[in-house]
Amino acid sequence: MNLELVSRELIDDDSISVAETTDRIAAWLSGQSDRGVGEAVACLISTRDRRVAEFAAQYLALLPGLHGEKTRAARRLCEHEDLLPAAGRLVPWLPTELLEELVKDYVQEGDQDAPLVDVVYEAGLYYPGLLRPYLSRIEDPDIRLSMMSGAPDSYVPGLVEKWRKEGKVGALDLLSRMRTEAAAQALLGLREEISDPAEWETFVEMAGRLPDSQERAGHQPAYMGFVAESIESPHVMGGEYTGECPLCPLCARPSALVLTLSAANLPFPLSGDPSFFWYTCRCYAVDSVSVKITPDGLGVFGGPRGSGEPDAYIVPGMRSLALETHPNQLGISLDATGGNARHQVGGLPRWITPEPHPRCPECARVMRFIASIDSGPTPFGHMNLDGTLYGFWCDSCQVSSVQHQA
Ligand SMILES: [Zn+2]
Ligand SMILES: [Zn+2]
Repeated sequence: MNLELVSRELIDDDSISVAETTDRIAAWLSGQSDRGVGEAVACLISTRDRRVAEFAAQYLALLPGLHGEKTRAARRLCEHEDLLPAAGRLVPWLPTELLEELVKDYVQEGDQDAPLVDVVYEAGLYYPGLLRPYLSRIEDPDIRLSMMSGAPDSYVPGLVEKWRKEGKVGALDLLSRMRTEAAAQALLGLREEISDPAEWETFVEMAGRLPDSQERAGHQPAYMGFVAESIESPHVMGGEYTGECPLCPLCARPSALVLTLSAANLPFPLSGDPSFFWYTCRCYAVDSVSVKITPDGLGVFGGPRGSGEPDAYIVPGMRSLALETHPNQLGISLDATGGNARHQVGGLPRWITPEPHPRCPECARVMRFIASIDSGPTPFGHMNLDGTLYGFWCDSCQVSSVQHQA
């Protein structure tokens, strides 16, 4: 058996869903001694089947690192128009020279919907600076918006003017998506002029500052996160948790411990290990939960508390979150969709729908973003989750908050 045959059999069986196919391919590959890397790359080098290539590339993108392997696979996919979209998944790991070549090809072709569009779209998210020289020749509105991340300071006065003269909130939204210090300072200065305080807070935080303290809204550096075997990283994910935890206010089912970051193994100045819980039922009774772990136990703010159950889970099994430096340190401009296994530690939140950071229930100060956990596939099966969880941490109170969006 090889990956091509295994995938084809699953893809051709109409009784097996896409998610199930993804999980079965992941189970087959992750059980191999090299986590299936050799098999996935060999498949991407040889397959002519667009669907097989998509599944193989999706699996490789669930693993951190492997720049050489991912580049080899992507170079080959780029030789065939119909396989090109699969290369989009590998963009975070591709060398700048290759991406520059592909962006140039896309612009020269002059067709905005060319097969290269998926690769260029991903390049805009992870390497917006690479696309910026071609701004005037790219029409796709999403790809254009992605280039706001890290846009030059010279944009700032024009956008502020547009807001003042024409009252266009869209101009401030663009400003916030630049995610630069110049944009943050301009937005902080507009406090008296923006009538909706929640809107102003959201803009300031998107740009990278907290509205009350004016401190940074996130930690540097930013990392991409990957659900990995438990021995791979000190940042613990999942596992059977039977300690105290928040209970769903509606059905009283216990939540699960999603992630505990190891402060000692992060370059951020943290006074404790932030832990994040989320509900395992699908009642959607609340969209946030805050907890505080002290030597006396766990406190839940404004909600019921009880014992965890071993079979209540969000993360499949006892895992860890492996980290790798994010190619876009400022933060991606485009909103997220959720469900794509795009986990993050540090940096600024990439919201599905931008909203203000939560306030610490103990000291009432606006909390700093620290991690987001996405739904979607892992090498060990799908997360038991919809949308994305956004984790915040008040370092002086040692309170952690989770905000859910779907
Ligand atoms: Zn419930
Ligand atoms: Zn606090």
